[in-house]
Amino acid sequence: MSDKVVLKTSPAIMTQEKDAWVVQLPRFGAEGNHFHTYGLLTPYFKGLTEGKLMATKCVNAKCPIGHGAGELWLPPRADCPDCHQPMMWEQIKNPAGYIYTFTYVERGGQGLEIECPYYQIDVKIPGVATIVKSYLLDRKPIKIGDRVKAGFRTGKDATHTNLDLYWELIS
Ligand SMILES: [Zn+2]
Repeated sequence: MSDKVVLKTSPAIMTQEKDAWVVQLPRFGAEGNHFHTYGLLTPYFKGLTEGKLMATKCVNAKCPIGHGAGELWLPPRADCPDCHQPMMWEQIKNPAGYIYTFTYVERGGQGLEIECPYYQIDVKIPGVATIVKSYLLDRKPIKIGDRVKAGFRTGKDATHTNLDLYWELIS
């Protein structure tokens, strides 16, 4: 067993319609091909494949919560949940945070593309209003509060899914 988690996946087939990616996941046999568009969230998925973590924030001065200077949301929202206006994209530079909570997954359900065992972790990033759920690359024992940094599957390693974002322990 490797000390790093590996994926049991292959890159999704991508096409582009205007500014939006359309992803085809041929992972469950030909009859199970799944198509969907990333729509307005395409910049998030494109960012992952370029090693960038893209979040959104509300800059509407009339927003009842953000008042024009909203916090970052991750995963991003195309529109603000509080005022329903389009949000702005912003890159989180050198993304890092700490493990807010975690689950040790020993046995996954059908279709899981992460080799078990692995840690599914919730990450709190300073300045981000939401808590990100993802997976930890490391398999060694962890505890709540351990610091982690983001890693990305880019280029030919990119899956074009949310699996392109992972976390590593900062030792
Ligand atoms: Zn708002």
